[in-house]
Formats: sequence, C-alpha cells, structure tokens
Amino acid sequence: MATPPSIRLHHQPSSCRRLPAPTNHQFHAAARCRWRRLPPVAAAPSLRLRATGAAQPLDSNGSLPGAVEVEEREDQQPRLKIAVVGFGNYGQFLARTLVAQGHTVLAHSRSDYSAAAAALGARFFPDPHDLCECHPDVVLLATSILSAEPVVRSLPVHRLRRDTLFADVLSVKEFPKNLLLGALPEEFDIICTHPMFGPESARDGWAGLPFVFDRVRVGDCPARRARAEAFLGVFAREGCRMVEMSCAEHDAHAAGTQFLTHTVGRMLAMLELRPTPISTRGYETLLRLVDNTCSDSFDLYNGLFMYNKNSTELLNRLEWAMDSVKKKLFDGLHDVLRKQLFEGSAQAPSTSNVRK
Ligand code: NAP
Repeated sequence: MATPPSIRLHHQPSSCRRLPAPTNHQFHAAARCRWRRLPPVAAAPSLRLRATGAAQPLDSNGSLPGAVEVEEREDQQPRLKIAVVGFGNYGQFLARTLVAQGHTVLAHSRSDYSAAAAALGARFFPDPHDLCECHPDVVLLATSILSAEPVVRSLPVHRLRRDTLFADVLSVKEFPKNLLLGALPEEFDIICTHPMFGPESARDGWAGLPFVFDRVRVGDCPARRARAEAFLGVFAREGCRMVEMSCAEHDAHAAGTQFLTHTVGRMLAMLELRPTPISTRGYETLLRLVDNTCSDSFDLYNGLFMYNKNSTELLNRLEWAMDSVKKKLFDGLHDVLRKQLFEGSAQAPSTSNVRK
C-alpha cells in the first residue's frame, strides 16, 4: 500500500513493530473489540493470553488476521501499557506509582524527559508517532489544562490501536470530556478522571484520597469494560476513595472546593506570610495552605479559572464575602463613634482605622 503523502515516516522504535497506518476506511471498518482475555495456554503456567494487538494489516475482508499475545501477571492483576502524555510534575508523579504496580509506562512531553523517565523505569518518546506506534492500552493525558487541546489535536491517533482507551487527569472535567469526544475516533473509549491530590498532599500515599471519575464512553463488550476496570483499579489498589460522578457535577463541586482553596492560598501568598515566634496552629495551617497551593504551576491555577464556568461566580462570592465581613466590622466601629459623638462617651477607640 502506498504511503499517503500526509503520513510521516519515522525510524522504528526498537520495542515496537512498525506497521503502515490504516486508511480512514480501514480505520473505521475494522473497529472492534480486541482487548479481551483468551483461554489459558496449557504449557505456559505463568502466562495467560489476554489481548489481541492492533493496527495489524487487514485482510481483503477488512478483518484482523491474527491475535497478538500479551502476558498477564501471575497475581491476576492485568498489566497495562500506559502512555503518559505530558510528563511534567504530575505525569511523573503518576508514573512512579504506575511503574511500582508493574505497568509498562511510556511517556511523551513537549520537553525532553528521557533521563527523568529512565530514572523512574519508564521509556520516553520525543516523537509522538513513535509513542503511538507502541500501541498502548491506555493513553493518559496529563498535560496542562491550557495546552490540552493543541496537545490532543497534535497526537497521531491513527497510529494507535483502533479501540484505545483515552483517559485524562485534568483538574477540570467538562472541558476535556468535550475535547476528547470531539477529537477522538468514535471507537476510542474515554474515561475522564481527577485524582484530587498531588505530590504535596499525597506525600504519604494515596490511601483515602478522593479519585473522581466519569466513564464517558466505554464500549459495550466485556473486554473493554475489563480494560476500563483495570485502569480504574490502579487507583483503587492504592486505596483511593473512588467517587463516580459526571464531569458537570465535578466542576460545580470543584469551583467551591479546589478553586476556592487555590484562590485563598494565592491571596495569602501575596501577603508574604512568615512564621513567627508566636504562630498559632491556625496560622501554621495557613502557611501550609500557601505552600500546598503555590507549589502548583500558575498555569494549573489559571486553567481552574479559565476552563471551569463556575469559577467566576466563586470569585464574585469571595469578593462579596470579604466585603460583608469588612462591613460588619466597620458598622460596629461606626456605632461606637456615633455614641462618642452624640452621647459624649469618654472611652471611645481610636478612629485612625476608620475608612473615609
Ligand atoms: P501543569 O503546569 O498544569 O502542566 C504541566 C504539563 O503541561 C507538562 O507536562 C508540560 O510539558 C505540559 N505543557 C504545558 N504547556 C504546554 C504546551 N504549550 N505545549 C505542550 N505541553 C505543555 O502542571 P502539572 O502539575 O504537571 O499538572 C498536569 C495536569 O495534571 C494538569 O492538567 C493538572 O490539572 C492535572 N492535575 C495536577 C495535580 C497536581 O497536584 N499538580 C493534581 C490533579 C490533576 P513540558 O513539561 O514537557 O513542558
């Protein structure tokens, strides 16, 4: 088959078999359920056949000619091949646990993280074509909210298996849901997630921390459901509190919780708070809040505002709350002054703080 001029040729990654990209017709005609367990092979006690491969050459009927064998661990935990796209702070944080659980982690990012990936036991691919040609079971989007759209649209998804599972960990949820539904082929499964913790808050592990997810689109066949559960199982195994809710519901809650927390943390940071010899526990909590929120990038905070329609209302309410508290204080002061002026009370407080 002649290579269409728009498809780039790349060197073959050593661990991947290079295959021609399917035509659009083949891409859609051959979409079928392939991630499934097959019966155990008699002479191989430690391995079981689990899944068929993808992007294989199609025969003249447009069907797949053979199955690729994928190993499964003896402990029955499915081993996934997970491609982390966006290998910055959070991508690496997730990769650490994925590798520890025995999954194969591939990584891609704008910057070169080859050394960081190698140190974590992952493999870095500067070229997304090479990454996709490794046919990961799951593509896990961990790029910034602001860059998510160009990053997704620049991925050569035609090089992936035709029923790949796409998941994201963006801290807003309706935006990636709509983006993935619009940008990915219909055969791809989609799970939108938000692990409600990060390198700071989960320093001592993920146990008990909330993990929000929405199975946006999971094909109706046992194999695809099993793959989705295997992916969600990554977080369940760590003891996360699994919270299934719609992306819209998440965003409504997250504005009033996460965006509020980050906004207060960033406001307090403007005051350049420092520890003092008489710091109270409450004050130390504020100092920790500044540390926890400002260690995340400003891009992340900005994304919480820009891509959650509920955030503007939260900012307005915060402003209203500050004004209300100030008003209550100044109204009280006003009453005291009045009394002093009209009733001649001797013990009135200083008026230097009174707003003109
Ligand atoms: P971030 O600043 O939100 O994202 C950094 C990542 O985005 C890096 O991988 C960076 O790639 C990539 N990126 C930024 N601008 C880009 C551009 N113009 N083009 C291509 N890639 C670009 O910080 P983060 O903490 O690593 O968060 C990553 C994702 O995880 C975000 O969507 C965030 O909402 C989500 N999340 C974070 C936390 C957390 O605690 N940090 C918790 C839950 C979810 P390079 O490094 O290669 O430049």
